[in-house]
Amino acid sequence: MTHAAQNLDTRSLQAIDNAHYLHPFSDHKSLREKGARMIVRAEGVYIWDSDGNRILDGMAGLWCTNIGYGEKRLADAAYRQMMELPYYNSFFQCAHPPVVALAKEIAALAPDHMNQVFFTGSGSESNDTVLRMVRHYWSLKGQPEKFTIIGRHNGYHGSTVAGASLGGMKAMHKQGGLPIPGIHHIPQPYWFGEGGDLSPEDFGIKAAQELEKAILDIGEDKVAAFIAEPIQGAGGVVIPPSTYWPEINRILAKYDILMIADEVICGFGRTGEWFGSQYYGIKPDFMPIAKGMTSGYMPMGGVIVSDRVANAFEEEGGDFNHGYTYSGHPVAAAVALENLKVIKEKNLVQYVKEDIGPYLQSKWQTLAEHPLVGEARGVGLVAAIELVKDKATRTRFDEDVGIGVICRDLSVENGLVLRACGDTMIISPPLVINHEEVDELIEKAWLALDLTLSHLQAQGVV
Ligand SMILES: *Cc1c(COP(=O)(O)O)cnc(C)c1O
Repeated sequence: MTHAAQNLDTRSLQAIDNAHYLHPFSDHKSLREKGARMIVRAEGVYIWDSDGNRILDGMAGLWCTNIGYGEKRLADAAYRQMMELPYYNSFFQCAHPPVVALAKEIAALAPDHMNQVFFTGSGSESNDTVLRMVRHYWSLKGQPEKFTIIGRHNGYHGSTVAGASLGGMKAMHKQGGLPIPGIHHIPQPYWFGEGGDLSPEDFGIKAAQELEKAILDIGEDKVAAFIAEPIQGAGGVVIPPSTYWPEINRILAKYDILMIADEVICGFGRTGEWFGSQYYGIKPDFMPIAKGMTSGYMPMGGVIVSDRVANAFEEEGGDFNHGYTYSGHPVAAAVALENLKVIKEKNLVQYVKEDIGPYLQSKWQTLAEHPLVGEARGVGLVAAIELVKDKATRTRFDEDVGIGVICRDLSVENGLVLRACGDTMIISPPLVINHEEVDELIEKAWLALDLTLSHLQAQGVV
């Protein structure tokens, strides 16, 4: 215990929190009433709160602690780098050893046609960078009117002005006058929620063709790029039907539109490949990355850029007037490098693909037998269940029941972090999770569902 605040009890911590800490993505009124859950330490796949409860972290923090908690090698890497060179920038033609080593390492993992990396401090900053790069690219190519970027309803690309604008979260757009001009959204490939009577395969084609419709509406010569997550994460782990990405690939090639695959969640092993683009055969021009790149031990993000775009920047010359004080931060870079080493040495990507991914998915499917569950789906180490009132017709509960939040709170109280996206419950556990821990996760998820059902029965909702 090195900080005074760590010696305080839960009530005192919550009082300070209430008085001084303005939280991200929280309802401040109910937070003040309930008090924040204080997380005080973590190890492996578990976190502990200030009352001593051990909780299995089914969300890997926020989709990021891929190697799990408590990896001393990353702490050592940070310490060594702080002593050697705690900070220097890469503006104005400077660089330093950790950032060049990290760029080389990431380029080696990325698809063959992507060899350059721009660094940022987060996923949101990465998408701000992408927006400017896309438009700068078409300017350099003499087609500045190719300006509009097409995103998707319910997509998540971060919380900065550009990130939230590229994303398709209505609740975010409502605050702050978003989206900014030059951004258009099309429907998502969400079969369970929006597929109606179509088969998933037919719906996948239909959802992809929304892109073609938008391109023709806006005009091929005005559309710069399409941005999407290979698997939509914060929107509810929307796994696209198998027909979706091949059809998107065809459309992008036909109209010469740049592809931005937002890999902030899918990147660094979550799908059982290094990147979600490799899992789905997507050919991106840009891959925004963050989260798993440092396993959350340090804030860092980046954009992996295709040779086509990087070559245009090089050939045409002139400054790209964009960068962050902490672009390529040496300590973050050293931690990211060590994180990639750990992922490789533990063969975590292969472990997800061949062992723990299939194991988790087969167990997760058993949740579909629960009376509240309309669908269980997933890929690698990311998965979702849909809570419904009636399975056969995929009928939802009324919105004011707030079933997702009820289920989430009951789950956390009983030792498992599940996240609620509306009525969709999602997980994205650390890649190091073992079989026993998966069994525990499934047992606790089932318990949360049972408790949710009892709660609804007590309330007379079912
Ligand atoms: C989390 C997330 C972001 C934003 O990253 P931050 O580091 O929170 O800014 C962007 N895109 C996707 C797909 C994400 O999941």
